[in-house]
Amino acid sequence: MDFQDRRKSGTATNNSVRIVMITTPTPICNLVQRRLLHRAPRSWLRRLLSPSGNESFLMHQHVVQIGDPVLRQVAPPLRPEDVSAPMVRAVVDELKKNLDRYDAFGLCAPQLGLSARIAVIRCTEKQLSMRTEDERRRLGMEPVDFTVLVNPHVRPIESSPIVTHREGCCSVHGFSALVPRHREVEVMALDETGREFQWKVKGWTARLVQHEVDHLDGKLFTDRMVNDTLQLNYWREVNRRGGDFRLGFGGMKGISHRLYPYFLRIRD
Ligand SMILES: [Zn+2]
Repeated sequence: MDFQDRRKSGTATNNSVRIVMITTPTPICNLVQRRLLHRAPRSWLRRLLSPSGNESFLMHQHVVQIGDPVLRQVAPPLRPEDVSAPMVRAVVDELKKNLDRYDAFGLCAPQLGLSARIAVIRCTEKQLSMRTEDERRRLGMEPVDFTVLVNPHVRPIESSPIVTHREGCCSVHGFSALVPRHREVEVMALDETGREFQWKVKGWTARLVQHEVDHLDGKLFTDRMVNDTLQLNYWREVNRRGGDFRLGFGGMKGISHRLYPYFLRIRD
């Protein structure tokens, strides 16, 4: 049974669980569903849980890949009063788990199969330590605490130049390309409590924000990349192993963190 079939059946599997389903739920799913529907406010969350009363809804525990229609939808915004609801907290928790699992800088709800304008970004000291001093300076990387962006909008800072660097995406797993982005932007968003905030960001952080907001508008970095720069990040490894190379799609667990910097040795 492929991924689409599982969605239709509404059966929870190891790879597609979450905030549950509806059509033919297991008793446990049924219980969770009733609890979530009971606790969810009317409007956005209720529609999200049961868009037409009896449709299935799944949020995955893995990151969906390019080709999945959910990545091409313009995600609907949340109402500010819905932001602090338990359902949204559950989505943010799942995004955080997957950030760690994929050792990612940013992730958004559509990448877990949920069309909603929720994104998270971060840049940890550990992630910085995997780049050389020169790379960090060239890309403008600096530590960023885990940040939730709900309904984010991005405005380029006037006179901010366009800079082109290599970037990848958990939904185009294993590939990267040169992508032009504004070096400095201002982001307007709600935080996880529903409070509005504005944030001026530059360098790598500005790139992360633009990448995630693109996701929420149904765009991927492949829509903006310099065409002839797309590469499989492991192409050398494919040659070294005589073609016997397999790419997993369930996070970074398959690759030792000791080897991770080696795999990430990517040049513009
Ligand atoms: Zn992405």
